[in-house]
Formats: sequence, C-alpha cells, structure tokens
Amino acid sequence: MQVTFDHSAHEAANIITFYFKPERPFDYTAGQFIQLSLPHAEADERGQKHWFTLSSSPTDEFLTITTKFPLEGPTSTFKQTLRGLKSGTPVDMSDPMGDFVLPKMTQTPLVFVAGGIGITPFHSILSWLASTRETRPIKLLYAVHSEDEIIFQDTFANAGVHATIVVQDPTESWGGERGHISAEMILGLEKPTEDTLVYVSGPEPMVEQIHADLKKAGLRPSQLVGDFFPNYKDY
Ligand SMILES: Cc1cc2nc3c(=O)[nH]c(=O)nc-3n(C[C@H](O)[C@H](O)[C@H](O)COP(=O)(O)OP(=O)(O)OC[C@H]3O[C@@H](n4cnc5c(N)ncnc54)[C@H](O)[C@@H]3O)c2cc1C
Repeated sequence: MQVTFDHSAHEAANIITFYFKPERPFDYTAGQFIQLSLPHAEADERGQKHWFTLSSSPTDEFLTITTKFPLEGPTSTFKQTLRGLKSGTPVDMSDPMGDFVLPKMTQTPLVFVAGGIGITPFHSILSWLASTRETRPIKLLYAVHSEDEIIFQDTFANAGVHATIVVQDPTESWGGERGHISAEMILGLEKPTEDTLVYVSGPEPMVEQIHADLKKAGLRPSQLVGDFFPNYKDY
C-alpha cells in the first residue's frame, strides 16, 4: 500500500520516529511489522527494503516506525534515504505481519524484555493498551547502552507498566540497574508460572542468547516469543 511520509521526530539524539499517513485505513495488530521500500540510486548491500516494527498504536492517526542511527561508522544508504525523506513523499509499505502480539487470554502473565531499539513493538502494544484502557499483568525489562538512549517512558507510565531499566554503560549519577541484561535478571523480575510468556525483542544475538538461557532455566519453547532485529550487533 502507498503511504505518505509526513514528518519525523527525535526520540533521542540518534533515534528518530518517522510518521506516515496511509491512503486508506490500515488494519494491524499492535506489535506487528511491515516492510518499507525506498528505491534509491547506488544502494549498498543493505538494500532498498527494510523490515520495521510499527511503533504506533492501531488507534493512532499515523503509522510510525522508530529507528536508531549509528553514532559511529557508516549508516546504510537505505537509512540515509529515510532520513532525507521530504514531507509529502509517497512510499510503499507492505501489509502488516508477524505474531509478536498480545495473547488472547487477558490474564496471561507477561514479561516484556527489550534491548535498545527492540522497545518498538512494546511501545506499540503499550500505547494500544493505554488508548483502549485495557490492562494486562506486564513486567517490562528495558536494556539500553546509555541513559540518553532511554525512550518512550511516558508510554510506560500511561499504560501503568513499571519499567526496570538496565544501563550497560551508565554515568556515575545513574541510580538504576547497571550491566548487561541476563536471564537471571529476567527471572528475578517475576518467578514464571506455567502460563507466563516472555517476549524478547532486540538485536538478533541478544534475543538468541536470552532464549537459550531461559530454556536452560526450564522455560518451555512455547513460553518464549521473539522479535529478532538483524544488522545490530548490540543494543
Ligand atoms: C521483524 C523485524 C522488525 C524490525 N524492527 C525494527 C525497528 O522497529 N527499528 C529498527 O531500527 N530496526 C528494526 N529492524 C531491523 C531493521 O530492518 C534493520 O536491519 C536495522 O535497522 C539496521 O539497519 P541498517 O542495515 O540500515 O543499518 P544501520 O542502522 O545504518 O547500521 C547498523 C550497523 O551496521 C553498520 N552498517 C551500516 N551500513 C553498512 C554497510 N553498508 N556495510 C557494513 N556495515 C554497515 C553501521 O555502521 C552500524 O554498525 C527490524 C527487523 C526485523 C526483521
């Protein structure tokens, strides 16, 4: 479907949300992703199409994606093109897909684990819960590299969800959790029951490691839901 780029907004120095207007109502479930096509000359090997989670709520006027730009090293030609979009430019967006969405049973205990920009599907889900005033038993663990990359805190508060934020390389004044996110930290948040589902979203190596560690700790594969972001080595 064709969508029209409207505007962008910084969430942090290197994290930007891009707002698109759909040409007709766009039906999706909070947490799903799309493929965005940006044809451009002399594309590098990262290509002309990228997958992005819709960070918006299905109740929002705009469709949004939120992405991170490298502070050091090159950024892909795709992301250079994205950052250069002018208001009013039409672009192609695929149909929504993916099952990184809330379970049907509203009482299922949920643990959400985000690594850096992996927070995007949780932003969509929590915005949707806040706007529909639905509540779920959710614990959120959010790992970032540094404090200035913490985004979307208003949304956590609006949804009534407490976020435990873990900063890998904090300043001295940081008063919260420090270090690397781990299965122990996740299990320490809440002792999982038979029904608990753990949703993990972020750089591919992080999600794979956490899934492997949680399986070793006794969780069944059916209790683990993953959103794997390629091309990010770390959060
Ligand atoms: C289901 C799904 C959902 C996703 N959702 C999101 C989302 O919500 N937000 C999001 O940001 N991403 C998301 N992604 C990942 C996204 O599709 C990209 O893979 C990611 O943003 C990295 O983009 P990029 O390759 O353009 O690299 P960049 O972001 O430009 O750079 C990432 C790293 O690669 C290096 N790099 C960049 N270009 C090159 C090059 N040509 N050669 C060598 N190294 C290079 C950079 O220096 C940096 O270290 C999702 C992926 C999937 C599969």
